[in-house]
Amino acid sequence: MENGLILVHTGNGKGKTTAALGLGLRAVGHGMKVLMLQFFKGTWLTGELCAVKRLEPGFKIIQLGQGFVKTRKGEHAEATIENARVSWDYAKQEIFSDLYDTIILDEINNMIDYGLLTVEDVISVLKERPKRLNVVLTGRNAHEKIIEFADTVTEMREIKHPFKKGIKARKGIEF
Ligand code: ATP
Ligand code: MG
Repeated sequence: MENGLILVHTGNGKGKTTAALGLGLRAVGHGMKVLMLQFFKGTWLTGELCAVKRLEPGFKIIQLGQGFVKTRKGEHAEATIENARVSWDYAKQEIFSDLYDTIILDEINNMIDYGLLTVEDVISVLKERPKRLNVVLTGRNAHEKIIEFADTVTEMREIKHPFKKGIKARKGIEF
């Protein structure tokens, strides 16, 4: 059995979550089992949520966040801290279940960046994970220790984004 890989999608450009979904799609086509856990925002009804429903149980998405919350680095509501704790406990349970070939931790980089999870906790879980498990960590501002630990790191760099022209989030493009 091959050892799983750690992949990171970071940067301020668009494509981190969608690339992770593409990877999940590729894996599920080979009969592998894939789970995406969405931290942080994640209560939106997105196209991927509906599409992946058709691929269950091979591919599952679970939203763990509380929607868009007003949160600032180092300054969080009690509910946000509690949500982070519960979400991370749940993620660990899934990681150690050994039921999956690939687990995508969507926006986990932001969780670390916002001080809601410690990078040491995340890395220690990654080290102890089932050997075969691939883990994808997405989100802006990936911690340098995560980058160092990962096998593949891709930075999405914004060159243009229609948001800057005032074009709002579009169905099938942004959600
Ligand atoms: P996507 O889900 O489209 O792959 P992403 O995961 O790289 O995007 P996030 O940082 O998670 O991007 O941002 C979530 C939302 O913000 C998405 O709707 C995304 O399209 C949009 N977005 C991404 N990059 C930018 C940007 N540079 N400016 C404005 N909006 C952005
Ligand atoms: Mg994203």
